Amino acid sequence: MTGQPSRKKVLVFRELPPDQLARLQSQHDVTVANPRVPEQLAAFNAALATAEGMIGSSYPINESLLAKAPQLKVISSVSVGVDNYALAELAARGILLCHTPGVLTETTADTIFSLIMATSRRLVELANLVREGRWTRNIGEELFGWDVHGKTLGILGFGRIGQAVARRAALGFGMPVLYHKRSPIDLAKELPELLGKVTHAPLDELLQRADIVAVVLPLSSETRGLMGEREFGLMKPGAIFINGARGAVVQESALLHALDHGTLRAAGLDVFATEPLPLDSPLRTHPKVTALPHIGSATFETRHAMAELATTNLLNALAGKQPISAFHFSTT
Ligand code: NAP
Repeated sequence: MTGQPSRKKVLVFRELPPDQLARLQSQHDVTVANPRVPEQLAAFNAALATAEGMIGSSYPINESLLAKAPQLKVISSVSVGVDNYALAELAARGILLCHTPGVLTETTADTIFSLIMATSRRLVELANLVREGRWTRNIGEELFGWDVHGKTLGILGFGRIGQAVARRAALGFGMPVLYHKRSPIDLAKELPELLGKVTHAPLDELLQRADIVAVVLPLSSETRGLMGEREFGLMKPGAIFINGARGAVVQESALLHALDHGTLRAAGLDVFATEPLPLDSPLRTHPKVTALPHIGSATFETRHAMAELATTNLLNALAGKQPISAFHFSTT
């Protein structure tokens, strides 16, 4: 009986593709229970008591939940953002957290750029005009959009995804790019292809100079509510605001105020403070808002790649091996 690794209890808290679930089941005893589905909540709570590993996403793993999981050694999140996890408590309990950076970078940048295009060129509004049979004569000025190429793009958060957005903007659309992060990067060394096309700017200066501002920041205690009334007030008249990161980085009441009473031209939003977006949210039907249902990484290819990476992370960690992408608690 040598070399037979012990089977561990694994709790899958959001559905995995069948091939990745099968990888887990071949090595471990797996319970699939999504706590967001009311009929599965009891099974989820019961499995917590013995789970040594968990894998999933989009559910708050807070202190009280962790207290019910005394055997837990590792959580593998099928996401790059880790704002759903009580990081200090995980660190205190010595629980390893893994996430999925990298594999979703380009797809999420595509989504953010789609929002830039959709808001600037009024794509949804004009497609609906055709669909609803209201295209009855050549369109006039009242339905014109605004150029994207050549406009100044301000990117808040310049990590993997922010840089991928910058490449699209600077190299593909001839857009001067300003970026904001706490520690400016050495472009010549790290991003030579963007040298001379991308400039670091303090937050206020970026807001004042950019025609389009895109948020690509992680949600943390520092970034929660970062975009408030003062910040929207600094933006250029006619500027466009995009959020492709996390809803709570934005004070939604301030955004609405800027759309209704300020000079903000439009907003493209993939994420919201509460998701799914409540039916009574004014952002849902606001004429200046293009709202998406949190689809940043939602393509067949990328969601599968995320699930595969998260599964590998979990299998490695449970086998005592180094996961491919552990989250480093010190980086927030
Ligand atoms: P990343 O590589 O870790 O980049 C984060 C960037 O934000 C870094 O440049 C970081 O630089 C900067 N930053 C962090 N805290 C800051 C602060 N307080 N002030 C200014 N800059 C700050 O992360 P990523 O892979 O690009 O992902 C970014 C976020 O996008 C994720 O955390 C996630 O929430 C979101 N996301 C959304 C979707 C979606 O479906 N819409 C999909 C994927 C990711 P410094 O540390 O130097 O400040």
